[in-house]
Amino acid sequence: MDRIVNLAKRRGFVFPSSEIYGGFRSTWDYGPLGVLLKRNVKEAWWRAMVQCRDDIVGLDAAILMAPKVWEASGHVATFSDPLVDCRNCQERFRADQLPASGACPNCGAKDSFTDARQFNLMFKTYVGPVEDDASIAWLRPETAQGIFVNFPQVQTTSRKKPPFGIAQIGKAFRNEITPGNFTFRTREFEQMELEYFVPPEEGQKWFEYWCAERLRWYRDLGIPDDLLRLRQHEADELSHYSTGTADVEYLYPWGWGELEGIANRTDFDLSKHAEFSGKDLTYFDQEGDRRYVPHVVEPSAGADRATLAFLLAAYDEEEVRGEKRTVLRLDPRLAPIKVAVLPLSKNERLSPTAKEVAASLRPSFQIDYDEAGAIGRRYRRHDEIGTPFCVTVDFDTLDDKAVTVRERDSMAQERVSIDDLVSHLSDRLPR
Ligand code: ATP
Repeated sequence: MDRIVNLAKRRGFVFPSSEIYGGFRSTWDYGPLGVLLKRNVKEAWWRAMVQCRDDIVGLDAAILMAPKVWEASGHVATFSDPLVDCRNCQERFRADQLPASGACPNCGAKDSFTDARQFNLMFKTYVGPVEDDASIAWLRPETAQGIFVNFPQVQTTSRKKPPFGIAQIGKAFRNEITPGNFTFRTREFEQMELEYFVPPEEGQKWFEYWCAERLRWYRDLGIPDDLLRLRQHEADELSHYSTGTADVEYLYPWGWGELEGIANRTDFDLSKHAEFSGKDLTYFDQEGDRRYVPHVVEPSAGADRATLAFLLAAYDEEEVRGEKRTVLRLDPRLAPIKVAVLPLSKNERLSPTAKEVAASLRPSFQIDYDEAGAIGRRYRRHDEIGTPFCVTVDFDTLDDKAVTVRERDSMAQERVSIDDLVSHLSDRLPR
């Protein structure tokens, strides 16, 4: 973990937020490489969930919503964690996460905890200039409710019939009592959520389908089997509306942690919003000549947790000719930089050609152009950030109009003519 946090900071993946002011309580900023990596994670999700399917459409709902949404969803009443304080050191903890010993994890004091009180995790704010009860609004703690309240509009405009889904990626906010483990648990994070609306009798079938499908997605993008599992919730863990929940978990350095929750939410959400809004949220099934409230299966993933898992799983160190090589074996679809263009040395005869090569690749790939320092070191720098291909322009290039393409994992090199370079790299960089 330390190596990843260190690499992330040193190479510009993730920085502590507001660092010049000493940082700010477990908030993080994605740097030039991190933003590319996280965008690629989200893009891979969107591609799998929306672009490559004919039964799912997208949505981008507002973060601020009518306050009644959160009453209907149950968040105002019950979206809380039990909070305790240590009387000895004043540190705060989630009562459900205390060690069995009963000792304070911070100062070691015995029996020092206050009684647990429920602490609502939603961030409260005020809309407009007056801070009174009538102007209270909440920062959404999940993107899902934006999907539920738009169900009728999306269904009619997209002319989809259950089973069909609505997918959304966006920020969510939770005033977590104990954020931590780098970007795993933060107060501001990004979710990738699908609400899949199905006929009432098909809930269980689609729940099983999405469990398998979502596991497949992580595997396909390079998470090895031994670091990935599906954990079914026990009956006493289930939320009151759910008839089945399973977590996709990753084996983080500190233990198994949730990447994504998949729940069979029954008709709870649409029924509640129908009740609180007074609007009809049923669906009329013409073929079956019946009207029903669709049931919902929800795979809800965290973009930050997935990004961290992909980083951790990709990290590798090996020995090459007596030297340590650090390499991020990221799936090329996720790699922040796809191709590095490197003149063999900083030389006025090589630079113009190398820059031309770089310019010819730029519209097709996220590239990096780097001419400073020894070529071996530049290869290592790109291994360390997971760049799948390095393209080297050398003195032969000036005569044969060809470059050397070096692949990250095998370090195998191949001579490719500049004219064929875009198509050669496109073939080796699948979408
Ligand atoms: P946990 O038990 O870890 O608090 P949760 O069960 O409350 O998570 P969900 O409400 O199911 O989480 O949210 C769906 C997904 O959103 C999670 O699987 C996770 O990837 C992401 N997520 C939730 N809370 C956070 C957070 N504080 N920081 C980063 N990601 C989060």
